[in-house]
Amino acid sequence: MVPLMPKKLVWVFSKEYIAGETTADAVKTSKKLNAQGIKVTIDILGEFIEDLKKAEENKQEYLDLIDVFEKEKIDGNYSLKPTSFGLLIDKEVCYNHVREVVAKAASYGNFVRIDMEDSPCTDLEIELFRRIKKEFPKNVGLVLQAYMKRTLQDIKNMEDIHSEETPVNFRLCKGIYVEPAEIAYKDYDEINDHYIENLDYMLQKGIYPGIATHDRNLVTRAFELLEKYNVPKTGKYEFQMLYGVTPKLRQEILDKGHTVRVYVPYGKDWFGYSTRRIKENPRMAMHITKAIFKRG
Ligand SMILES: Cc1cc2nc3c(=O)[nH]c(=O)nc-3n(C[C@H](O)[C@H](O)[C@H](O)COP(=O)(O)OP(=O)(O)OC[C@H]3O[C@@H](n4cnc5c(N)ncnc54)[C@H](O)[C@@H]3O)c2cc1C
Repeated sequence: MVPLMPKKLVWVFSKEYIAGETTADAVKTSKKLNAQGIKVTIDILGEFIEDLKKAEENKQEYLDLIDVFEKEKIDGNYSLKPTSFGLLIDKEVCYNHVREVVAKAASYGNFVRIDMEDSPCTDLEIELFRRIKKEFPKNVGLVLQAYMKRTLQDIKNMEDIHSEETPVNFRLCKGIYVEPAEIAYKDYDEINDHYIENLDYMLQKGIYPGIATHDRNLVTRAFELLEKYNVPKTGKYEFQMLYGVTPKLRQEILDKGHTVRVYVPYGKDWFGYSTRRIKENPRMAMHITKAIFKRG
């Protein structure tokens, strides 16, 4: 029944978390956030793709988006999911598409973040990031997930592409996919402790972290670390949150003078995303936002 729900009804639940269907909607939302002193990162929602024609279309959408956002002088950068560019179909095709998107952003002096997807993608996405970072050292970043047991080692392994002039830039999040216990921490405290361990290591090494969380407990612990290492408030780190989630905590962080970036998803596929998640679980809000990161 859920896919038959009227679009208007589903939108009532989705609109808090998704900017809308068009680039114009994303521009409008981003301008509102910018006016509040908040930076954005824009994500075009994409369905699970079955053929490389769709990957090509998705690339084109990003290229067009970048031109519009730069023309509109939005204070923001871009986030993308490599599976929408064919990562699991042909990783070379995916590399060429993502490279083209990064090259376009780089031509404006801007930056693209490669989202991290589920564990079959981890090695592939790290490899993709490494390749592109070598060519565009200042224009690409990656996401790392604190629930993955491998993450600290991954950070250490990527130190060969890190330098003071061109630091690696990692968004650190807890991780949103359901992963097996052999490879991922499951317990709330355990995940949070590893989040802080990863963040601590990044700050010690001069890695630029995007501290992506809505968890007040983690935000407080992050403040303590920033103070411990006396990290300057500009240019060395930022806080990140999803559009529509915990705006009160977001404002508190802003009021303390930290940089805040909001992840703004939009796209014509919002309805498919939202209805699939509503179908799975009645806790709609959480699941609509979770859907932003999931395929299929
Ligand atoms: C900017 C950003 C980018 C992200 N990118 C990725 C990525 O590339 N790959 C990936 O696997 N995950 C990504 N995530 C999701 C992340 O991994 C977590 O699943 C999600 O942020 C929830 O974890 P939390 O740190 O907020 O803590 P939690 O303990 O899960 O949440 C703390 C509190 O925040 C609120 N909250 C958290 N999430 C939501 C929500 N979706 N809707 C409503 N309320 C919520 C609730 O009040 C909750 O009690 C991203 C998150 C952010 C903020």
